[in-house]
Amino acid sequence: MTHHHDHEGQGFETRAIHAGYEPDPTTGAVIPPIYATSTYAQDGVGGLRNGYEYSRSANPTRTALEETLAALEGGTHGFAFASGLAAEDTLVRSLCVPGDHVVLPNDAYGGTYRLFAKVEAAWGVEHTSAPVDDVDAVRAAIRPGRTKLVWLETPTNPLLSIGDIEALAGVAHEAGALLVVDNTFASSYLQQPLALGADVVVHSTTKYAGGHSDVVGGALVVRDAALAERIGFHQNAIGAVAGPFDAWLTLRGLKTLALRMERHCDNAEQVVQLLSSHPDVVQVIYPGLPEHPGHAVAARQMRRFGGMVSFRVRGGEEQALAVCERTRIFTLGESLGGVESLIEHPGRMTHASVAGTDLEVPADLVRLSVGIETASDLLADLTAALG
Ligand code: PLP
Repeated sequence: MTHHHDHEGQGFETRAIHAGYEPDPTTGAVIPPIYATSTYAQDGVGGLRNGYEYSRSANPTRTALEETLAALEGGTHGFAFASGLAAEDTLVRSLCVPGDHVVLPNDAYGGTYRLFAKVEAAWGVEHTSAPVDDVDAVRAAIRPGRTKLVWLETPTNPLLSIGDIEALAGVAHEAGALLVVDNTFASSYLQQPLALGADVVVHSTTKYAGGHSDVVGGALVVRDAALAERIGFHQNAIGAVAGPFDAWLTLRGLKTLALRMERHCDNAEQVVQLLSSHPDVVQVIYPGLPEHPGHAVAARQMRRFGGMVSFRVRGGEEQALAVCERTRIFTLGESLGGVESLIEHPGRMTHASVAGTDLEVPADLVRLSVGIETASDLLADLTAALG
């Protein structure tokens, strides 16, 4: 597939709207059609038109998304998958063989942890967990010669720990490993890991990239041709690709990513301010707070601090569950990154599967995905729910 780089140097918002697609030469359509086709007519045997042969290998709607993802991450090649986990599994198959080792965040997204613990381990790829905010611990977790990937999430879920991308890229590269950054929580708008030395960016585009809670998808972005070649081969060989309709929805979401993220951050800041002065809140966890241990690193590597806020309530698990069940605008549900505000209890919901392990989260913890509704409505909703 051809990859265009003529949007380099343009602003983020311009790339979000114009990269990846030129108006259709025959109709002038400004938005790529949903190419609901499995195959493509050939002009003579092997005579492909623009390289399209079969839609697992490439589809024009998916190409538009992949080029946009690459342009927004400052990469050269993007790859779109059926889900974030499909992207992650394809990445591991592309870059590891049985016997290899991966360093994981000790509070990685539960599904990522399960992928490594149950699926990659059964195939012979081992992992060690380390806290992302402790560079020395990550270095110590590396097994020289065997560690192929250092995997980073920043901010992490749900405790919003911050890993120093630039420092960890150095640690990975010293050991001959690659740094993979899951950029789902920050989004391409708030954080650009490739520019800080990361080798691969992973997204669950289900979250802020898609942004409207209407599609599940995943992405990988790189800026190295040899890496792109290996990932592209495995994307086609494994086949866990994004379908054209899913690709179209994600592309539609990306066009407003910058606007949405600004509002997510504005609203999150107001929510943090409210919670910080509330007598029944014992701790507010947000990388934008000066007392957050990762604040200085976050301020250096993020444009703003994002739309995810976690907090601990006085009264333990019972009160945390009650707050989650009392909000009316914050919808009780898993996932995050959509326009609507969500609330959840990690201990009983997203992180129930890690109870009893060192990934266990406090029982009095509540996680918010702050949406883009009217801020005063969100504040009133939380105030009422806290009682
Ligand atoms: N990475 C992070 C940080 C996530 O939050 C998620 C999903 O919740 C994933 C990866 C997995 O993505 P998906 O659910 O699209 O497979």
